[in-house]
This record gives sequence, C-alpha cells and structure tokens, in this order.
Amino acid sequence: MERTFAIIKPDAVGQHMIGQILDRIETAGFQTRAMRMARLTKKEAEGFYAVHREKSFFGGLTDFMSSGPAVLMVLEAPDAIRRWRDLMGATDPAKAAPGTLRKAFGTSIDRNATHGSDAPETAAYEIGYFFSGIELI
Ligand code: UDP
Ligand code: MG
Repeated sequence: MERTFAIIKPDAVGQHMIGQILDRIETAGFQTRAMRMARLTKKEAEGFYAVHREKSFFGGLTDFMSSGPAVLMVLEAPDAIRRWRDLMGATDPAKAAPGTLRKAFGTSIDRNATHGSDAPETAAYEIGYFFSGIELI
C-alpha cells in the first residue's frame, strides 16, 4: 500500500465538483485516509509549493490556491502516487487524456481542478504539511 496527497482545488470546489471528484476517487478504488476542507493562507500555499518558488507562475499559483476553500486528502492504494496522477491527467487540461479529472473538470493550466504528489518524498512532505499522524485513519 502507498499513500499520496491530493487536493480538490478552489476552482473545482467553487464549481460544485467536490462530489463528482470524490465519486471518481472511490470508484477508482482509493481509500481516503484523511480529509479536511480548508482555505489556505497565502503563506500556507507558498510553503506547500516551495519547490516552485523560482517559477514565473508561483505568485499566480499561490494567489489562486489561497483564493477559496479546497479539499485536502490523503489517498491510499497500491501504487497510489502514480495511479492518482494517471486519474488526474496532464497538468494542462487541454493536453489531458479523455476520461481524466483535469480534462473533465479543469479549465486551464492554472485552473486545473486537482493536485497530486509526484514522488514518495513529496507525498511524505505534503501529507505531513497538512495532517498529523493522529488524523490518518
Ligand atoms: N502551473 C501554472 N502554470 C504553469 C505550470 C504550472 O499555473 O505554467 C500550476 C498548475 O496549477 C500546476 C501547479 O502549478 O498544477 C504545479 O505545477 P507542476 O508542474 O508541479 O504540475 P502538477 O504536478 O500539478 O501536474
Ligand atoms: Mg507537481
């Protein structure tokens, strides 16, 4: 079993897509080990995306991620990191494969509906950033 960190981003929450995305997560066989709704502060979003600090999109990304409520989740499955990224699809919804979440629910590269960890080390950092051990069920 492997755990990954996932977010339903503020664009998807604002467009009432939480239920549809959770349905896809459960249908795909993930167990939800933790889940919480939160509106990130700008500083919390900057800390979460610290690896992207030097990128041109960092300011816009952290403004967007702190613009409204998001759903924070820990998902568990065999090969969860890769499988969740496969279910999300490519970063740019225009390039995401049919049937993926970003194709269905994203509207642009900076409004792409969901987040997923990209490696075991980042999953561990991201899970620990938002959840303490006692919250992982
Ligand atoms: N992003 C953006 N513009 C870009 C590239 C990325 O706004 O040109 C945003 C996008 O929301 C993406 C996030 O920054 O999900 C993190 O980028 P990353 O390359 O890690 O993509 P991901 O792992 O989310 O697919
Ligand atoms: Mg990434």
